[in-house]
Amino acid sequence: MDGMLQQRRGTVVALLFFCGLGIVLALWMLETRLGLITALDQAAYPALALMCAAMPPLLRWLPHRRTRLEMAAYGAIAIYFLAKLSDTMLGPQQQALYTAASLLQWLPFLYVAAFVFFERRTALLAGGTVFAMLAVLPLAALAWAGRPDDGAVPMLLVNACAVHFLILASLSMISTLNARYEDARLQARKLESAATTDLLTGLANRRGLEQLLLGVAARPGRNIGLVMLDVDHFKLVNDRFGHLVGDDLLVHLAQRMRQALPDHARVGRWGGEEFLIVVLEDCSSTLDVAERMRQAVAAKVHPVAGYVTISAGAALWQTGQPVAAALRRADAALYEAKSRGRNRVVPADAALLAEHAGAAA
Ligand code: GH3
Ligand code: MG
Ligand code: MG
Repeated sequence: MDGMLQQRRGTVVALLFFCGLGIVLALWMLETRLGLITALDQAAYPALALMCAAMPPLLRWLPHRRTRLEMAAYGAIAIYFLAKLSDTMLGPQQQALYTAASLLQWLPFLYVAAFVFFERRTALLAGGTVFAMLAVLPLAALAWAGRPDDGAVPMLLVNACAVHFLILASLSMISTLNARYEDARLQARKLESAATTDLLTGLANRRGLEQLLLGVAARPGRNIGLVMLDVDHFKLVNDRFGHLVGDDLLVHLAQRMRQALPDHARVGRWGGEEFLIVVLEDCSSTLDVAERMRQAVAAKVHPVAGYVTISAGAALWQTGQPVAAALRRADAALYEAKSRGRNRVVPADAALLAEHAGAAA
C-alpha cells in the first residue's frame, strides 16, 4: 500500500474509533439515566469507551503493530457482541427475542469490517470465528439457562446462521474475485511495460518511443526537439570483440545517456545501435542536450571495446506537423555528421540553430 493510501486509511480508522467512542458514551449515559443498563453493559461500556479512545493514538505511535492492534480491537468488539447475545438469552423470552433480533442484524457488520480491514485469509479467519461462535454461544447460553427448546429464539438463531453463512461466503467470493482482478491488472501492466521496454538496455524501445511521440502529438502547437544518435563504427566492435561485447557496449552507452539526460528529455533505443532523444520542453536546449550526450559517451571508456563515440542529427518538430518528416530530417543530419567525420552533432534546421543562438544570447 503506498504512503498516501496508508495515511488515508489511518484517518478513516481513527474516525471510526471516534464515532464508536461517541456511540458507546451516548448509550452508556442514556441507558444509565433510563435505568435500562444491564450488568454486562455496566462493565462493557467503560471498557469499550477506553479502547475506542486509546486506539487512534496507539495506532499512530505504534504503526508497526497496526495489524495486531486492529485485530485486538476487532476481537474485543466481536466478543462484546457475542457476549451480549448470549447474555440476552438468559433474560425473559420476549426481551431475548427482540434484543437477539437487533443484535443479529448488526453482526454482519463484523464480517464486512473484517474484509475491509484485513487481508483475505485473516478476514476469513476472523469472520469465520465470529460465525462459529454465533452458532455455538447463544445456544449454549440457552442450555445453561435451562431453556434449550425455547422455540422462537433457537429458530431465530438457526435462520441467522444460514443468512450469516451466505453473507460470509459472498464476501469471501467477492474478495477472491477482487484479488484475481488485481493480479490480472498487475500482469497487464507488466506486459504493457515489457512491450514498450528494450530488454537489453532497459530504455524505452521503438514502440515505447512511438507511444511517447503519439502522446506528444495530441497537443498541437508545441516545439519538440528530436535527436537521432548512432554509434560510430559499431560493426568494428562486433567484428573485433564479438556480439556479446557489442551488446555490453550498448548497455554501457544507455547508462551513460540515462545519467546525462536532463529531466525535460526522454531517451529510447530506436533500433540496433541507434537511439532517439525527445526534448519535451525548452526546445532551444536540443543542441545542448545532444552535445551533452556526445560528451558523456566519449568521456567514459568501455573496459573491452575502449574509446567509443557517437554521431547525432537534431531536428525540430512542431506538433501538428507529421513527426515522420522531422525524424527524416534528423536522420539526414545524422548522415551528414557521419560524412563530416563522425563524433559530432549536426542540426537539421536553421530554426534549431536560431533557437540555440537565441537561448545562448
Ligand atoms: P557508422 O559509424 O557508419 O554508423 O558505422 P557502423 O559500423 O556503426 O555502421 P552501422 O550503424 O550500419 O552498424 C550497425 C551494426 O550494429 C550492424 C549490426 O550488426 C549491429 N547491431 C545492431 N543491433 C545490435 C545489437 O543489438 N547487438 C549487437 N552486438 N550488434 C548490433
Ligand atoms: Mg546504425
Ligand atoms: Mg553506427
